[in-house]
Amino acid sequence: MANSDRPTTVIADVYRGTFIHSTQTTAVQILEDALLGVDTQGKIAFIGKGKELDKLSQTFGFSPSAVTQLKQYEFFMPGMVDTHIHASQYSYAGTALDMPLLQWLNTYTFPVESRFKDLEFAKRVYTHVVKRTLRNGTTTACYFATIHTDASLLLGQIANDFGQRALVGKVCMDRNNSVKHYKETSQESQEETCRFIAELLNKKYPLVKPVVTPRFAPSCTGALLGQLGAIAKNNHLHIQSHISENTEEVKLVKELFPESESYTDVYHKYNLLTDKTVMAHGCYLSDKELDLFRETGASLSHCPNSNISLCSGMLNIRNVLNHKVKLGLGTDVAGGYSASMLDAVRRALDTSKVLTIQDPDHDTLTFEEVFRLATLGGSQALSLDDQTGNFEVGKDFDALRVDVVAPGAPIDLIQNEDPKILLEKFLNLGDDRNIVEVFVAGRNVVPFTEPTD
Ligand SMILES: [Zn+2]
Repeated sequence: MANSDRPTTVIADVYRGTFIHSTQTTAVQILEDALLGVDTQGKIAFIGKGKELDKLSQTFGFSPSAVTQLKQYEFFMPGMVDTHIHASQYSYAGTALDMPLLQWLNTYTFPVESRFKDLEFAKRVYTHVVKRTLRNGTTTACYFATIHTDASLLLGQIANDFGQRALVGKVCMDRNNSVKHYKETSQESQEETCRFIAELLNKKYPLVKPVVTPRFAPSCTGALLGQLGAIAKNNHLHIQSHISENTEEVKLVKELFPESESYTDVYHKYNLLTDKTVMAHGCYLSDKELDLFRETGASLSHCPNSNISLCSGMLNIRNVLNHKVKLGLGTDVAGGYSASMLDAVRRALDTSKVLTIQDPDHDTLTFEEVFRLATLGGSQALSLDDQTGNFEVGKDFDALRVDVVAPGAPIDLIQNEDPKILLEKFLNLGDDRNIVEVFVAGRNVVPFTEPTD
């Protein structure tokens, strides 16, 4: 391509079968007997119809015999995007769900997170969480690590090694009255954040990037929040934090930041609400606060398992969508006990249905809408929708090969069903046994290749 402005596309893989994804206008678009080509850069080079095989093979220079044909009851869907997960809390996932947020943090979370100074412990937990989430179809994860820079860098390395797309955040907190050894000074937090960003970017991992991560307003002084806002702005970085998860927390923020009009205003004041910001929860945001989200382009991560498990609240997604705020789903491990995005899909539907039980006028979410939130919506919430989220030409091929009748999997198909029913059954009944292959940027990352040494 040295003498040409137009690079020649070289096709690495071509798949034929059913593809299911979301678009801007359609929550579930089904492409039956489609052909999808992936180039050597892992990008989607073309999508066409099966009957166009001869024409496409000539245009793109691949052999029709090299096409991988999906079986009956198999389909491809986009990889799922977990917009909020604490990699460091994975060790106690499935336990410790008997307290409200602030006590839960002091009793379980801070003592465990303080152990990540130990890199061997960090390596063990981070390897498990990356493998578990990938196997469950999370091709993109937005991770919280801990305050420890080197362990956070290790999480980035492990995600890169396994081929997961990830935003990784070294947690910042200069306020902690309950577990006093688990905090930084403002200066440490600022310096270590800069070191973390520089060292992670220096690795040049193609799919792993740093995200500026103030834990949440109660853990940070205004001075630190201001510094972090400036760091994110100067380096054009993503930002993640928590907002308005539980009523006690909202009250606490009011006490700690009396000069701010609202919780959202605290972050806004310190330049932490941008079009690359994702805030977890938002259960108690006012309409005015949601307007501020829309105006700044900041997004929300809905984490229904966590919201229910810690008795935090129930986010009204319909209201958020009506305000045109970008929204994705998150597992929020370990406040949420499941690392699977399929669980997040189900709990999001459950939450919406409970809201309808409470108010019959509530417009219940459909499974199609929640499918979009778990894929395209998540990529938009993380401002990564130019790279992933659906099967658009030019995006990376991040995909799950789903076999609804995979041996040993929990779905019984009694009769022939159309693809939309297969999708619905997979979302409601399926698990990782139905996800027979996972691709990130064209690379087959699940099943795992065993280390050669
Ligand atoms: Zn969280």
